[in-house]
Amino acid sequence: MPTPPLAGSTTGPDALRPLLDTVLTALHDGAQRRNGPIPAGGPPTTTTHIHAATHPVIPDHGTGPHHALRTLVTALTQGSADPAHPHCTAHLHTPPLALATAADLAASALNPSMDSWDQAPAASTLEAATTTALAHEIYPHHPHPDALITTGGTEANQLALLLARERHGPVQTICATNAHHSINRATWLLGLPDPLTIPAPTGVMDLTALQETLTRHHHQRLLVTATAGTTDTGQIDPLDDIADLCTTHGAELHIDAAYGGPLLFSPTHRTKLHGLHRAHSVTLDLHKLGWQPAPAGILAVPDHHHLQALHHQAPYLNAHDDTEAGLPDLLGRSLRTTRRPDALKIAVTLQALGRTGLADLIDRTIHTAHHLADLITHTPTLDLYDHPTITTVLFRPTHTDDHTVATIRRTLLTNGRAVLGRAHTHNGLWLKATLLNPHTTPDDLQTLLDHVTHLTHDLKKGNTPR
Ligand SMILES: *Cc1c(COP(=O)(O)O)cnc(C)c1O
Repeated sequence: MPTPPLAGSTTGPDALRPLLDTVLTALHDGAQRRNGPIPAGGPPTTTTHIHAATHPVIPDHGTGPHHALRTLVTALTQGSADPAHPHCTAHLHTPPLALATAADLAASALNPSMDSWDQAPAASTLEAATTTALAHEIYPHHPHPDALITTGGTEANQLALLLARERHGPVQTICATNAHHSINRATWLLGLPDPLTIPAPTGVMDLTALQETLTRHHHQRLLVTATAGTTDTGQIDPLDDIADLCTTHGAELHIDAAYGGPLLFSPTHRTKLHGLHRAHSVTLDLHKLGWQPAPAGILAVPDHHHLQALHHQAPYLNAHDDTEAGLPDLLGRSLRTTRRPDALKIAVTLQALGRTGLADLIDRTIHTAHHLADLITHTPTLDLYDHPTITTVLFRPTHTDDHTVATIRRTLLTNGRAVLGRAHTHNGLWLKATLLNPHTTPDDLQTLLDHVTHLTHDLKKGNTPR
């Protein structure tokens, strides 16, 4: 076999073009074969398919690029949960925009690595411009806000707790039961005390309990982490009131706005984030309500000096004399070394859509969630948990138990009809639809509910589910 061509330089694009054609055909054919939001048959079917397509994983003699791409991309597509399908709505699992995915291809072909300027001259400037612009959206009143690009909310939350620890020593974290599990894991990873967990009986942090906890632990350095867009219900903690309490008690505030943060771009919905800019750090994910292929996480801080603790020196990447001679020092912008230029797809999306384009996507998706909630309210055999704050809608058949709800979810998953999530609240288990697809129509939503009601009917009758 000839030496395989590379993706970069002037010859790369010509080598890529026919390969991309094979990939795009495979994406199309795989989706057509799946013909739904997730392959029917559950784990056994997918496992058999993938084993067949990959056997042997490491052959003695290669099958060549087109065969390997066609076989594996078709199999992977056929066996994928497709967030672009209107009935794939379990998680904050976004359908990426075509334009952002195209930008990500360029990132892969160029392969800049963000750990030193000599591996990413233009990408480092683009990243700095993009993160500064995003930081100004979150902290409009601060002269020098800054932001880091992360692999997502988990890493951003870890960095936030790390920065608080570096500023104040072993801080005591306070979060509510609605906080993301990554907060607990971050305290474990960083050797911090376990979080004090306060109740969230209505789905959001209880202010009275927060005040009591802040008072009781006033002798400690405290870090409150609030959530703007909870994983289970999409609710937003009372950010401004929490910020007031933190100010009064001298506690730091981190806001995990991984889900809700992009509401900032919507003039209609940004008021839901009132108080966001008062946090000492903010987590935001653009691979959720920002329609980016993963990863596209952000951690923003009100002043670029707050990131100083991450500064790190490795003579081969950021030697003092190189930095003094004017080469930008990027190593301290992450705990990772080799790092993809995730800023490219984000910058392309911001520029292509503009504020109005992004706001339209967000407003449209929230509208879809409200429409689903209305349809549920008008279906006598279904109960709605609550009207959505962002795009999460919890519902379940009336007069049902947790076991039935769980069975409905798993049956729809394994028969390939719908991908719904599950959320446990104070009053039991619910089906969760996290709407992120701006193309979903009212008919799609009705069909989704029909799948649930028909299956419930079959289960009640003791019939084998359709
Ligand atoms: C998704 C999410 C996270 C985790 O983010 P990843 O990007 O999956 O690492 C953290 N917090 C909240 C509120 C989230 O919705």
